[in-house]
Amino acid sequence: KLENATAKAELGRASWKLFHTMMARFPEKPTEEDSLALKTYIKLFARLYPCGDCASHFQKLIKKFPPQIGSRNSAAGWACHVHNQVNERLEKPAFDCNKIGDFYDCGCGDDKKAAGE
Ligand code: FAD
Repeated sequence: KLENATAKAELGRASWKLFHTMMARFPEKPTEEDSLALKTYIKLFARLYPCGDCASHFQKLIKKFPPQIGSRNSAAGWACHVHNQVNERLEKPAFDCNKIGDFYDCGCGDDKKAAGE
């Protein structure tokens, strides 16, 4: 079947959105278990990403730039960096990672309040 560039780009935007939003919500002071969960998630995300060519490039990328899972800031900064590596390969402009701060808002507010506490 022919490649559908529109669908491929749409998948990419949706995936990056989830990826960066997840980093923005990762604990500032993660437990070892939190960090292991994130590391495993990233590894499996890279392995199972539905576009096969993208997945194999991304797996090489995370070998070269191992996931930074020690804190929210390091995880968000790392994700921004690897996305910029993909941008570079696709000849897209780089994103200024200093501006990542409040860019990815999950819209979920304070989880505890939302749960009625
Ligand atoms: P996207 O790159 O999708 O970015 C969406 C939005 O995120 C941007 O508009 C901007 O607001 C923001 N953003 C941009 N850069 C950053 C950054 N560094 N950090 C944080 N936010 C940022 N496509 C291919 O054709 N070939 C591939 O090999 C390929 N590999 C991919 C691998 C992965 C893991 C993923 C998730 C996607 C891949 N894609 C690939 C899709 C590609 O990266 C884009 O998602 C797609 O081309 C749409 O691009 P876009 O210009 O809309 O912006």
